[in-house]
Amino acid sequence: MGVDIGGTSVRAGVVDRYGTVLDTARAPTPTGEAALEEAIATAVGTLAARHRVSAVGLAVAGFVATDRRSVMFAPHLAWRETPVADRISERLGLPVVLEHDANAAVFAEHRFGAARGAGVALLVAIGTGIGGGLLLDGKVFRGAYGVAPELGHLSLVPGGRPCPCGKNGCWERYCSGTALATTAVELLARHPGRSTVLDREVAGDKRAVTGRKVAAAAKDGDPLAQLAMGELATWLGEGLALAADIYDPEIVVIAGGVSESATLFLDDAREHYKKRITGAGYRPLARIRTAQLGDDAALVGAATLAADQR
Ligand SMILES: [Zn+2]
Repeated sequence: MGVDIGGTSVRAGVVDRYGTVLDTARAPTPTGEAALEEAIATAVGTLAARHRVSAVGLAVAGFVATDRRSVMFAPHLAWRETPVADRISERLGLPVVLEHDANAAVFAEHRFGAARGAGVALLVAIGTGIGGGLLLDGKVFRGAYGVAPELGHLSLVPGGRPCPCGKNGCWERYCSGTALATTAVELLARHPGRSTVLDREVAGDKRAVTGRKVAAAAKDGDPLAQLAMGELATWLGEGLALAADIYDPEIVVIAGGVSESATLFLDDAREHYKKRITGAGYRPLARIRTAQLGDDAALVGAATLAADQR
């Protein structure tokens, strides 16, 4: 079984050895530590009553220690240097494996999805922010201290938009669902009346602009929303060129909520990436694809890692 533990929800799923999700249970993510562990145990218990479960993999949106037994830090979860794997394992009476969610996702895409057969694969999950997962020689690369690759906070624009991480100009401030909304609001201020759809949608309250609304407006042909999408594409290409200069991947998998609108930005991002990469025209380029496992990737990856470790 895999459990995807994110800032908004805890989602457990029973996964077979082909990566198929057979059954799921979901609960909103509680704020306290005890309540969070209770929610995980309940979700797992619900499914374990209906299926024969042999191991549990937890995919966590946070820093996982190198021994993969504890969560060091998770910005949207209660755990701080918490021995999560042992605690949950004791509670469930099952072996438990812990993994960073983007690592679990790239592992699943490699085993069952878009990165199958790739020696070096990079996963870029674009949602509220950017999550990164890297596979080297078919193995999840976690760095020396379990934190790599932290792509979303690469500083792409010195002195740029402020980021909650404390820095400025981070990649995810320009390339994420949140960034799409920020860009659209900036463009609305610069070009009043340019967007009929967003102007009406917002009706004076710029907080009403969300990445999802901008994507929907762009799909409907709204020129301002399409401009915002174009900016996201440029920054995606820019960041990918930088990441590819470091990792030289064979395949880049674009995942996360924003990837659902990939038809609106991926070709432009590819073009920009091609132009910006070092030695453009004289080196093989990574294929850039969208994820195949969607929302299930982290859950499937965690379950499969747990099964492999048995
Ligand atoms: Zn940042």
